[in-house]
Amino acid sequence: MIDELKKLVTQYLPNADLALLEKAYNYASSAHYCQIRATGEPYFNHCCNVAKILTELKLDIPTLCAALLHDILEDTLVVSQELKQEFGEEITSLVEGVTKINSYKFNDKLTAQAENWRKMLFAIVKDARVIIIKLADRLHNMRTLKSLSPDKQKKIALETLTLYTPFAHRLGIYNWKNELEDLTFEILEPDKYNEIKTKWKARSGRNIEYLNYLEKEITKKLTSANIPFRLSSRPKNLYGIYRKMQRQQKPFSAIQDLFGMRIITDTQEHCYQILSIVQTDFKIVENSFTDYIILPKANLYQSLHITVASESDVVVEIQIRTEEMHKKAEYGIAAHWRYKDQFNKTTDNSKDIDLEKHLEFIKHILETKDSEEFLSDLKTECNFEQIYVSTPKGKIIRLPDGATALDFAYAVHTDIGNKCMGVKVNGKMVPLNYKLISGQTCEALVRKNIKPSEHWLSFVVTYQAKYRIRKFLKETKKQLRS
Ligand code: MN
Repeated sequence: MIDELKKLVTQYLPNADLALLEKAYNYASSAHYCQIRATGEPYFNHCCNVAKILTELKLDIPTLCAALLHDILEDTLVVSQELKQEFGEEITSLVEGVTKINSYKFNDKLTAQAENWRKMLFAIVKDARVIIIKLADRLHNMRTLKSLSPDKQKKIALETLTLYTPFAHRLGIYNWKNELEDLTFEILEPDKYNEIKTKWKARSGRNIEYLNYLEKEITKKLTSANIPFRLSSRPKNLYGIYRKMQRQQKPFSAIQDLFGMRIITDTQEHCYQILSIVQTDFKIVENSFTDYIILPKANLYQSLHITVASESDVVVEIQIRTEEMHKKAEYGIAAHWRYKDQFNKTTDNSKDIDLEKHLEFIKHILETKDSEEFLSDLKTECNFEQIYVSTPKGKIIRLPDGATALDFAYAVHTDIGNKCMGVKVNGKMVPLNYKLISGQTCEALVRKNIKPSEHWLSFVVTYQAKYRIRKFLKETKKQLRS
């Protein structure tokens, strides 16, 4: 196992301190000596697998060492002091961070979960690597969950789905998020999982046929246009399909895009060139184009999305993006964090700005005092669905699904939100709690003597609006007291 790990690391860190990695390996291996997991294998295999999962994100040696050592304080006789002597401050504090998170036991009560999660977020702000190790740990535990009792499986799966998958999403680690979702789906809703899986298999033949055709044609066209690209296709995750069925109240047969295709190229210009080739040469599903390059998602995801259809209406969603956007999409903030650290001294500010935006967001969340509020904020921010409305001047504003007229006002500007008396939607006045839908033209009207009220908090959904309203109320209270 250590040889495999070394090989994986040297692929992206040619000058890595392999001796330190091997030291951690040997140390952890002997500390966990004779311990057996529920699966029947040596306990230490779990630690190695967690480290191996983390090499997918190309993480540094201290993180990998901490991964090998991540259960050592909890499950062996080794104490922090010894660890510090052997491996120094950095690795020890990472291991301590992970151990701390483990000590918060899952509680069915929402508030208790949120509380733990706030503490976890504190850990992130100090060091994002702690949460990433924890997510890899959870991923490996979920992969090997079958050996536990059904009750335990359910409990862990529920915890994973409520707390960890939104977080993987929020950090933009979509690979892990999708796998975690399907693993939990299988345990929590085995009947639905199996039903969708069976139907999926039955229908995938026709889809694969069309997919092969698409791959061949697109390859031909892009090669002759001299555009560098790589192309990959994969099935959509089953939980995603299930959620879509629920959301749109549709049976499986009505869900069309079972597969997604990805075209990755070098520059943004090429993304748009590829898009126009796809638009000219294939049948496009109406209104299926979304430009997340100009309007990135809240977690900074960027791509062009467009759905094509065969003559017999088999559809495939195509995502077009650059290598850079791809890295961000697959590994999110983790990838950024790594760049920042590795190339600290070179000046690549654009990446740092993205990271700063993330951390800024997390810090804002931390200022929220109430735990339930906090969890619901986190959930809204993780909300996948988005709508688009425009201002009278044609500026596009992106909002989460369910956003109200007042959310729109706050999205335009804090002052407009704070003084908003009403919003005109397609020329008609609507109440502040009116739920917007995509395509509407909105204009917020302000009046000097309007002030945010407690009541507003009961219907706004965006984090931005909540944060601004609470901030205003807090400051007013302070002024009254003084
Ligand atoms: Mn573990």
